[in-house]
Amino acid sequence: MVDYINEELIFSLLEKSKKVDESEIKEIINKAKNCKGLSLEEVAKLLYVEGGELLDEIFDAARYVKNKVYGKRVVLFAPLYTSNECTNNCLYCGFRRDNKELHRKTLSLDEIVTEAKAIEAQGHKRILLICGEYPGKTGVKHLTDAMDAVYKCGDIRRINVEAAPMKIEEYRQLKEHGIGTYVIFQETYNRDVYKKMHPVGLKADFDWRITAIDRAFEAGIDDVGVGALLGLYDYRFEVLGLLMHIDAFEKKYGVGPHTISVPRLRPALGWGLDEIPYLVNDDDFRKIVAVYRLAVPYTGIILSTRESPKLRDELLSLGVSQISAGSKTSPGGYAEEEEKADQFEVNDHRTLNQMLETICDNGYIPSFCTACYRRCRTGEAFMEYAKEGEIHEFCQPNAILTFKENLMDYGTDGLRTKGQEIINKALDEIEDVNIRKSTVEKLKEIEGGKRDIYF
Ligand code: SAM
Ligand code: SF4
Repeated sequence: MVDYINEELIFSLLEKSKKVDESEIKEIINKAKNCKGLSLEEVAKLLYVEGGELLDEIFDAARYVKNKVYGKRVVLFAPLYTSNECTNNCLYCGFRRDNKELHRKTLSLDEIVTEAKAIEAQGHKRILLICGEYPGKTGVKHLTDAMDAVYKCGDIRRINVEAAPMKIEEYRQLKEHGIGTYVIFQETYNRDVYKKMHPVGLKADFDWRITAIDRAFEAGIDDVGVGALLGLYDYRFEVLGLLMHIDAFEKKYGVGPHTISVPRLRPALGWGLDEIPYLVNDDDFRKIVAVYRLAVPYTGIILSTRESPKLRDELLSLGVSQISAGSKTSPGGYAEEEEKADQFEVNDHRTLNQMLETICDNGYIPSFCTACYRRCRTGEAFMEYAKEGEIHEFCQPNAILTFKENLMDYGTDGLRTKGQEIINKALDEIEDVNIRKSTVEKLKEIEGGKRDIYF
């Protein structure tokens, strides 16, 4: 049995933190503003703050840290579901084996290319390949063939992969074929709940899943994404479990996660649950995002279209740094929507362009940047840049350049006007005069028709 998660310790930390001491919480909040992260004990205490001024102070601190570390950038991506066939029976998921209502489909390479082109036609440059676990159909060959075909077919510049745990040799192949980030959610960090939710199939093995990140690192993939599916068990336990997991692999491999996702359980057609077992309400969800932001300031936070437009817009300020937009959650869904093929119900149906308008209206700058992994700023190297604050020097100009490209190639007139204002503002915020000058020169090159220019 792998001992990454010390459940006893989590329960005892939670027990000790139930009584909220205002002055102690204020001290923790002040410490968090130094952007050096928080201990598990401190996180447990913040998680018990309910409403009122103290919670507002946590939110203010999260806004401060988000702004200090990430500025106003928001990275955009879209998921590409290649298959909804699955031999597992995760009770919460629409793709589970026993869901007889679902129209099953594994896309051919041609169909995957059609999907990638449809995503690119919206203006995206970054996709996340996702599939069920079906040995022989959705294994590593399916994924690497898909990656090759997508990279070749157009101008998608970064492919991240969210797929079932693999062997080291298989992760090596993903690396060789140009994976950006490997994403895997533990779903729940509580072993008993995990066992109930994953009754059969390869996914029933908690240890095989929690050690997937280790094997990815061993294979040389140093950008990894983690997450807990919120709603399966007590959210406080899950947040501490996830941070404990991060602590374990960061100690072992010297690198933390590139991203944390915050998937909140949604009803799904044909799922095996009657209701969401531990419903996370919006207030607690905001708190979770803010606390992650304070606990691991340099890790990106990803929010999907599982959430409503209003909440998504709000969470940008509290800590979210990457969002999906214009998403479909069924294989083939971009080219033609098929009924009864989705993994879960999408909650934000805005198109990418609508999303870009909203991001600009809220004072943020959309980014389609894919430079870091192409410049080998991944894993430890990325973290070093990030922690020194140097990442601003690359990220802000790259956001400006990639958004400019997007506006020129896909923007409507209204969006172009709004976008240019945001670009001008973002240019002014670049402190280094030489970088600012060089960004302006590169912008001219983009206006002249050159593409894919980055720092
Ligand atoms: N099949 C792979 C796996 O399970 O790791 C790939 C990812 S699965 C298609 C994507 C993720 O969706 C799961 O890890 C789970 O956290 C999440 N998910 C499943 N059912 C969901 C639901 N009903 N609502 C929200 N998220 C869900
Ligand atoms: Fe299959 Fe993944 Fe859904 Fe589980 S969460 S049923 S493994 S697609």
